[in-house]
Formats: sequence, C-alpha cells, structure tokens
Amino acid sequence: MDQVEEIKGKTDIVELIQEYVPLKRAGRNYKGLCPFHGEKTPSFMVNPELQIFKCFGCGEGGDAYSFLQRIEGMEFGEALRNLADRVGVKLVSYRPSQQEELKDTLLQTNYLAGEYYHYVLTKHNLGIQAREYLKDRGVTNEAIEIFKLGFAPEGWDFLLSYLSGKKGFKEEDIERAGLAIKSQSDKETKKQSYYDRFRNRIMFPLNNPRGQTVGFSGRVMPGADEKAGGKYVNTPETEIYHKSGILYGYDLARSAIKAENTSVLVEGQMDVIGSWQAGVPNSVGVGGTALTDRQIELLKRVGETVIMALDADQAGDAAARKGIEAAGKTGLIVKVVDIRKGRKYKDPGEWATDDPDGWKEAVKKAVVVYDFYLDSAVSRHGLDVVGKTRIGRELFPNPKK
Ligand SMILES: [Zn+2]
Repeated sequence: MDQVEEIKGKTDIVELIQEYVPLKRAGRNYKGLCPFHGEKTPSFMVNPELQIFKCFGCGEGGDAYSFLQRIEGMEFGEALRNLADRVGVKLVSYRPSQQEELKDTLLQTNYLAGEYYHYVLTKHNLGIQAREYLKDRGVTNEAIEIFKLGFAPEGWDFLLSYLSGKKGFKEEDIERAGLAIKSQSDKETKKQSYYDRFRNRIMFPLNNPRGQTVGFSGRVMPGADEKAGGKYVNTPETEIYHKSGILYGYDLARSAIKAENTSVLVEGQMDVIGSWQAGVPNSVGVGGTALTDRQIELLKRVGETVIMALDADQAGDAAARKGIEAAGKTGLIVKVVDIRKGRKYKDPGEWATDDPDGWKEAVKKAVVVYDFYLDSAVSRHGLDVVGKTRIGRELFPNPKK
C-alpha cells in the first residue's frame, strides 16, 4: 500500500475536521456548519466510514488531504507531511513539486530574515535606538520576544548580504520572498542587482495562521523621512504572502480566542501588542478597516463572537460597515468597543498601554453592533427633525417601497 493511502487510512477525519468545525453525530454521518461558505443551518457532512466530507450548500468536498489543503491553504505535500506527523508515519519517498520547493525556500528566507532582524534589535549596537524607541512607546521586552519584533538597519544590503552571503540564498529568491527589490540592471554587464526592501525600520513579522513568517511590516523610525516609503512598508503579495488572509497576531491569539470564544479586533500591530500587554490576549489586527472573507473565516473558526474596536468616523465608513455586515451574515456575533470612550487616546494601542485596566474594562463592556450604530448616528446627526431623517437614511439606506 502506498504511503498516501496508508496515512489517509490511519487518519480519523472526524477528529481532524473537529479541530476546525464543531460536529454533531447525525446517523452514520457527522454534521456541522460549513467552514467554506457562510451558513446558519448545517449542511456540511463528514462520513467516518468513507473518510470523506461533503457540503451540500457549496459543493465543497473531498478527503482529509483536500480538507487540509482547502482550509489551511496548504499544498498537497504539506498536507501529506502534516497528516504523516499526526499519525506517526515516517515518509520515505515523497518528492515535492517545484511549487512546493519554492514555497519552502520563501518560508525559510522569511524565517531567517525574522531571526536576523530580531537579533539586530535585541543584541546588536545597530538596534540601540530602536530598542529605546520601543521602550518609550511602552513595549515590554516580553512582548518583543513573543511577537519577535526586529530592526532593519539603515543601509542597502544588510539583509541581502546576510542571506546570500552567509546563508547561501539566491538573490532572486530573496526578491521573490518580498525582502529585496530589483534595481536597474547594469547596462554593460547585464548583471541584475538588488537592494534591501526594509531599511531603518522597526520590523513586525507577519505570520500565517500556522505561525510561519510569510512577510513583514516595517515601521519608520521617528525622525526618519516618512516620505521615503511611508510610515509603514509592507511585504508585497508573494507566493506565500496574501494580505487578505492575514490577521496580525492570529497564530498567537488562537488559543486565547478559543478559550474566550471571542476575538478582539483592532487595527494595527501596535494596537495588538498594547492590547496583549494589557491582558487581552485574544486580540488580532485586521490591518485596515474592511474585514475580508478569509479573515472572517479564520475568526469564525475559533470563536463565535467578534469584538471590534471602532471610532465614530469608522462607524459611518462604508468599508467598515461592509465588513461588519459580512461578518454578521456568517452567523458571527458582532460587538463593538466604542473607542471614543477612551477620550484622550487616539487608538486602542495607546489606550491599552496608558490605561490597561480601562481598556480591559471597555472590551468587557462591548455592545452589540446595532446599539453602537444608533449611538454613533445620534451623536453625529442629533435628534431634531433633520437629524432623525438622516439617522433613518444612514441606518436603513434601502427602504422597501
Ligand atoms: Zn459549504
């Protein structure tokens, strides 16, 4: 029997899927809410005898391998290795595809870059200023370790020479990993040259849900020219980094979200770190105002309630509302922390760092989203006749005639 079949035979598909979706016995099958499309009544079936799953809502179906590939975004080889580990089978002769090998290389490149940046921040003289800056912003050493923060020194090829020189990576792979940029090739020799994408920046590793570093967000140092690249520089889309599928801190927050059955959604990296330090470990960063379908899927997998930290402007913001509505449609319970209540603080990160108890309390007192909409509309439009009309239009934009 070949190993692919052997491993599949040893895998308990019900147990595997139950790590993502709560299942209930229904005759010879198990039933649950489909993780691949939004639904409120279960049409997702798992059959333990045949070791298959099938959704009668969206048509998704297959075996343990295809389940892992679909839900974790794995290549076949990764799913195979994952299940082999799980059932304790040692793979003897699996040859990865080119695509899998490339992804592996890009993952290794990003992993080593993370190690390098972290080393510079925590141990090297070049990181002194950045260390001071983080300390001033109230970031603890513990948080620096947990979130593996780093520093990219000022210069054109610190990382490149480390990765291509010491570690033997090809420059074009470093570029494909999003860490270097191609410059004009030399007219005479036609030789391509590269330079570091991240320079003089505090580095936040961006991990996929499995905790592998797939990219970075680099924050400009105070006093540096923000116009040269902007306040934040992020990894562009690569074979392993897809912005729409990343929630900052998700891999670290996952078990806390499960324990509370609730996730707390903030915007940026500093918000997540501040919130984590304040004792709200189930916080994740959405990196913008609009939640994507993939992000909603990730949140739904680990908790039934999502608490969003929003300010009054965002309540009226169409993109934010779209995300909230999309989350609500999948059956997630959406609550809101009104960050106006933090008065003097401009974002959750500042609030959580300066007044950790206040932030924790505010999260505990989050209100259901429709109450929040109403409050915020009333505060913006007032309750006179014109105000009421505007509120009506905002909350019920498409009246049925
Ligand atoms: Zn489905």
